[in-house]
Amino acid sequence: MLLSFQTALIPNNKQETLFRKASGVARHAYNWANATIQNVLEIRKDDKSVKIPSAIDLHKKLVAEIKSQHDVPNCVISRQANRWFIAIKYETEQPTVFSDRPTVGVDIGIKELAVCSDGKVFSNPKAYRRMSKRLKRSQRRVSKKVKGSKNRSKAVRKLAKIHAKVSNIRQDAIHKLTHHLPKNHSEVRIEDLHVKAFLKNHKLAGAIADCGMYEFQRQLEYKTEKFQSKLILVDRFFPSSQICSNCGNHRHKMPLKNRVYICPDCGHTEDRDLNAAKNIERWFEGIFIPSRSDLAVSSTVSACGVDKPLKSHLETTMNQEVNIKTAHVQLSLDLGSFG
Ligand SMILES: [Zn+2]
Repeated sequence: MLLSFQTALIPNNKQETLFRKASGVARHAYNWANATIQNVLEIRKDDKSVKIPSAIDLHKKLVAEIKSQHDVPNCVISRQANRWFIAIKYETEQPTVFSDRPTVGVDIGIKELAVCSDGKVFSNPKAYRRMSKRLKRSQRRVSKKVKGSKNRSKAVRKLAKIHAKVSNIRQDAIHKLTHHLPKNHSEVRIEDLHVKAFLKNHKLAGAIADCGMYEFQRQLEYKTEKFQSKLILVDRFFPSSQICSNCGNHRHKMPLKNRVYICPDCGHTEDRDLNAAKNIERWFEGIFIPSRSDLAVSSTVSACGVDKPLKSHLETTMNQEVNIKTAHVQLSLDLGSFG
């Protein structure tokens, strides 16, 4: 399989000048188009039938030329905040993996980066939060400087450096997570993040929300392929945080502020994200999803039962009996298929 490897370069002055020359893409395109038009105008002095190329003609021609030069490109040099990087493509054999790796469900957290159904927690890197604050400060500094001034360009350079640092911390955390999951699990089950981000009002774990769901999913896709693992996107309508991972058939309101899931029916108590991850692990198509009870799961409700929760419990049970019956008739699904 074809993989890509990227590392930083430390060029000397001469090399850097060469890199800068080669990476001025817009200037290159302009110069190339200018030369092409001059050439055509020269030919038209003798032969008026030659057409002057339009912007679209030039665009097509340039793309065709670049493509013909770069068939099997195996090295790309790029620049980020004054640092140079080289990316090399290489052919490698698939790594050997254990065949009996367990399936894992992953809840992309709000508080944590990710919580796995086996209890493993990937925290948001602390450095990331610290740098995010510095980033905001630095952004403010840039906006206060006079446009066009030397001080402003200095502040802009500093800002770019912090941006790069934040991006590196984030990239590192995400690479580690997307490497761990397929390497240790034959099947990775995860919610459709595009939808989750939308539903949760952008309150996703900072690093993943920032890098973009596409990048996270892209990494997970190629790494599951690399480790011969399977990536399963759990149905967008699956209410993973509302179902009790212990008794399964019950579904309760789960306001975002509640960090602990306490099942009003069986008393099962678990961290909100871990409960969701366990549900995601056991998700499969055709699962029975109970109708939602109006009773909110609260971290303040006592599991051993004082007056109020007991009353609510009774109401919930009744509500659910009705709901489950209706759902059963309508969908003819097996109540016991979950859990
Ligand atoms: Zn329960």
